[in-house]
Amino acid sequence: MAYFTVVGGGIAGASTAYHLAKLGHKVTVYDRADTGQATDASAGIICPWISQRRNKKWYRLVKESAKYYPGFIAELQAETGLDTGYRREGSISLVKDDHIQDLAFERIQSKQADAPEMGEVRKVSREEVKRMHPELTDLYPGVYVEGGGQVKGAVLLKALKAGFLKHGGQWINEDFSGQSTKGTLIYATGAWGIEQNTPEVRHQRSEVLHFRLADSNHRAHTPVVMALGPIYIVEMGMNQFAIGTTHEETASFSAVPSEENYEYLRGLAHRYFPDSEIEDVKMMVGLKPYTRDFLPFLGHVEENVFVINGMGATGLTASPLVGREIARYLNAEETILDIEDYSYI
Ligand SMILES: Cc1cc2nc3c(=O)[nH]c(=O)nc-3n(C[C@H](O)[C@H](O)[C@H](O)COP(=O)(O)OP(=O)(O)OC[C@H]3O[C@@H](n4cnc5c(N)ncnc54)[C@H](O)[C@@H]3O)c2cc1C
Repeated sequence: MAYFTVVGGGIAGASTAYHLAKLGHKVTVYDRADTGQATDASAGIICPWISQRRNKKWYRLVKESAKYYPGFIAELQAETGLDTGYRREGSISLVKDDHIQDLAFERIQSKQADAPEMGEVRKVSREEVKRMHPELTDLYPGVYVEGGGQVKGAVLLKALKAGFLKHGGQWINEDFSGQSTKGTLIYATGAWGIEQNTPEVRHQRSEVLHFRLADSNHRAHTPVVMALGPIYIVEMGMNQFAIGTTHEETASFSAVPSEENYEYLRGLAHRYFPDSEIEDVKMMVGLKPYTRDFLPFLGHVEENVFVINGMGATGLTASPLVGREIARYLNAEETILDIEDYSYI
């Protein structure tokens, strides 16, 4: 049994703390719940196979993470009896026309041999898109991936925290500013990692609009939608959705929604649900942390000081597995990821 102090109780810190506590270690988490916490604002998609990003280390991380998710969720649910906010109803990537659909299908399907957890991959016509997602525009055809899923960051975090406490962890809602600790210190401080200097952390501010379709009587869950460009639509409840996200490189830590982004997202909601009456629910703002190369940083920065940061736009996907892998690594157990791939200091 060893001692660990985890600073930061977003998904990265909470997952690491949970997995360490599960291995029988004595773990304390400090979290000061900053406004703009990325995990709280996120309405996340778990569908890494459709990305066009070519970075191999990143892809290995998110591919293995998506594979880990269903088992991890089942275990967490069994341990806590809580909802985790995770659901797998498939994903539809919308495309502009039939030619792009052919290209997207080939690109996405080519990953299937190495990732059978993707399930079925198929082209879907405009009519099929409409059947799967009745209120959505029928302007675009798409590519359907059966294994695509979604998770509500705040709900998963609550379940992780409950699991962590059940395994004997201690959670302190306080700022950590150098209190004396025993054992290893782990910083998982997201955008606020800038306060620790190493590694260099910057952030993007992302906004999401939550809205309800007031006149809809559709009563079945819908797949997540990767719309055109970097836009996605996630179901948040029956006939309630989140559309996002905006991306803004900034040094500001403000989490106040901007009028301009609200108008932009509202315009998109009308474009994708042209026949529906849209009622605003809320705007959410999160600060997504990045480190060098848009790859997470996972590694020691000094003896007994470890950093997990830069989870970026796929931190909800990657953090459950990252937490397990770091716990194994610090426990001198074999890992499926080569942690050295993510620690460049
Ligand atoms: C709008 C939005 C949409 C997203 N969509 C997706 C998606 O579709 N799929 C996906 O996989 N990912 C998605 N993400 C990314 C994902 O949410 C983030 O990568 C992830 O939540 C980052 O988690 P984190 O724990 O590193 O940071 P955070 O969640 O920001 O947590 C950091 C925590 O550290 C605490 N802290 C900092 N300093 C201290 C200190 N000194 N003492 C105590 N506590 C401290 C803060 O208060 C905070 O609670 C999205 C993010 C946003 C914002």
